[in-house]
Amino acid sequence: MKNTYHLNTKLTGLIGHPIKHSYSPFIHNIAFDLKKLDFIYLSFDVTPSNLRTVLKGIVGLSIRGFNVTIPHKENIMQLLNEVSDEASIIGAVNTVVNDLGKLHGYNTDVDGIYETLQPYKEEISGNEISVVGAGGAARAVIYTLIRHFKPSKINLINRTEQRAESLKNYFYDKMKYDSFMTKELFPPQLVDVFKNSKLIVNATSVGMFPESDDSITSLHDSFTKEQIVFDLVYNPSQTQLLKLAAAQGAVTLDGLKMLVYQAAKSFELWTGESMPVEQIYKSLQLYVGN
Ligand code: NAP
Repeated sequence: MKNTYHLNTKLTGLIGHPIKHSYSPFIHNIAFDLKKLDFIYLSFDVTPSNLRTVLKGIVGLSIRGFNVTIPHKENIMQLLNEVSDEASIIGAVNTVVNDLGKLHGYNTDVDGIYETLQPYKEEISGNEISVVGAGGAARAVIYTLIRHFKPSKINLINRTEQRAESLKNYFYDKMKYDSFMTKELFPPQLVDVFKNSKLIVNATSVGMFPESDDSITSLHDSFTKEQIVFDLVYNPSQTQLLKLAAAQGAVTLDGLKMLVYQAAKSFELWTGESMPVEQIYKSLQLYVGN
């Protein structure tokens, strides 16, 4: 990786709290090098009470753009000059572009989800699916599925069922989609729900390092070889959920691909250039030890 920077080097980065486990600096700095772009990507640990001040600093320092992660994805929206239609429907921003002092917010998780699922569009369309989770990532998943994949029914499953219920009402208001069934995350009662789903998406943090032995279900008869199982967790990339589903013959999709594709869209927004995604994906797999 290059180590010479000068006056014209454009700064990009990540703000969040905590941020130390992020792979984004690895992804973007390698991509800048491969494309020979004079950019650098750094991580900044920003607490909620500092967010407003940090945004002023970003404008003052002409930082080109940045990614946003937990816990700022929702709160930052009201502090930006403009928010894309998609980010506004989802209710979360993960990428900001500084356009001559005006901050524009986007949600590129949608691109990561779309690119990961796109090869299975025909299978998903018109079929029943299950989404587990009701946080920011689940919102982006639900938006993308309704907008681009047209499932016949979405089972919305969450540990706190009330949050799934709120999400159902939210998406009815925003997108007029009403084929939802909400359920509590209680695996023994979900075997048939999962089994009847063409696609199962884990949009919770269950299974993430260091709790890598956990899974939203450990019941192997929840899966069939006709299914697609997508886990947004990327550390580890081969989660217990994916191992279990693969053992039953299901197609499994890990969170690393989504991570690279959401980064690619942010990269494009900041630089106007495309990211060499296949190369970056391979480098990332090596980096995380796949
Ligand atoms: P979030 O807003 O904090 O939501 C967390 C969700 O996980 C909630 O639905 C929560 O349920 C559920 N949950 C947490 N711990 C649980 C447990 N022990 N048992 C059952 N459910 C549990 O987080 P987020 O931003 O949506 O992110 C969710 C996951 O997606 C994270 O692992 C994140 O790393 C991943 N992600 C990946 C990418 C990618 O590019 N691959 C991008 C974005 C996010 P309750 O409502 O009951 O609390």
